Amino acid sequence: MKVLFLAHTESDGGLGKAAAEALGAAKGLGGELVVGLFGAEVQKAADCVAGCGAVKFYGVAGPDFATARYGSDAAAAEAIAKAAGAEIIVAPSTSRMSRVAAGVAQRLGAKVDTRLTGLEAADGKITATRWFYRQRMLGKIERDARPWLVTVDTGCFAPCEAPGSATVEMLAVTPATRSQVVQVIAPAADAQTIRPDAKLLLVAGAGWGKSQSDGQKHVDEAARLILGLLSATQASLGSSKSLVDQSGEGAALPFLTHMHQVGQTGATPRHPKGLATCCHGEEPHVVGWRFIGERRAINLDANCGWAQGKADVLYVADAFAVVSKLVDLLK
Ligand SMILES: Cc1cc2nc3c(=O)[nH]c(=O)nc-3n(C[C@H](O)[C@H](O)[C@H](O)COP(=O)(O)OP(=O)(O)OC[C@H]3O[C@@H](n4cnc5c(N)ncnc54)[C@H](O)[C@@H]3O)c2cc1C
Repeated sequence: MKVLFLAHTESDGGLGKAAAEALGAAKGLGGELVVGLFGAEVQKAADCVAGCGAVKFYGVAGPDFATARYGSDAAAAEAIAKAAGAEIIVAPSTSRMSRVAAGVAQRLGAKVDTRLTGLEAADGKITATRWFYRQRMLGKIERDARPWLVTVDTGCFAPCEAPGSATVEMLAVTPATRSQVVQVIAPAADAQTIRPDAKLLLVAGAGWGKSQSDGQKHVDEAARLILGLLSATQASLGSSKSLVDQSGEGAALPFLTHMHQVGQTGATPRHPKGLATCCHGEEPHVVGWRFIGERRAINLDANCGWAQGKADVLYVADAFAVVSKLVDLLK
């Protein structure tokens, strides 16, 4: 079985964390491994994984492949996949790769499955695992069709890092593109509070917007404390549905959107650690951080059943005071 690991390089020329994990997934299948990379340049990324055991490295490089664009990315991925002739193609579920995965599969006559959380080879069969219907059902997929292109989620596979010196066979690709990338306009890194790669998930609950012991609401202070903690720790921000809904009505924290919601009808992110603050809900505690490694909560209510039941450690304390002190210490 020939397995192609396919990825784009990052703006610094190296490989991202998601790509290193996808390579770990591809390697775990145990076949004859081929590496295919595309981007502005590929040598640095190839050198990062030179010792991964691949029998061949293919690359497509040049200014046309520096930024994400459907026409050029799909052409590069197609050329690499055709040169490799692999039965299984494993790529990371980055937004850039996800955009072209289905189109590339169509060009190759391949089947495609995305956002896999497990990939195993045994007894000549490959079994892929992924969640369906907002993480309610775990599905196992086996396919006879080849080629089979899959993308794998981050946080599910051990990254492969094997630096050395790789010999890359460069493929000439002239993409037929109609659009030019003129400029990338993106919020400042600090303005983005959803950080999938962060070590810590901070969950903010509706308590931050409730009247406190002095009978007053302290929403501005809550915003300052939460942003202060995020800035000091570079944690990712999640929120309960109640707080997100209030924020949508302009009643609570202005930087929260529905993208932040964790839980049954929100996201289930993967971070090594989680800290829930001012949060009581069942959904954020039971579903929202089911994939969080180590879980702690701060709640005024010692009887908060979900924090008690689902957190490894519950601090019965005022989150305003704790976070304020924490930010001071971290500074
Ligand atoms: C079909 C369905 C789907 C749902 N999906 C989701 C979902 O995906 N995600 C989700 O979050 N919810 C979901 N919910 C809603 C969920 O059931 C809860 O209503 C919600 O999570 C409660 O939010 P909360 O814990 O932030 O607020 P609350 O229940 O109001 O809790 C606030 C907490 O803050 C504490 N507190 C107040 N002040 C302080 C302080 N100074 N220091 C420390 N603690 C303090 C209080 O003790 C209290 O425990 C769903 C509900 C339904 C019916």
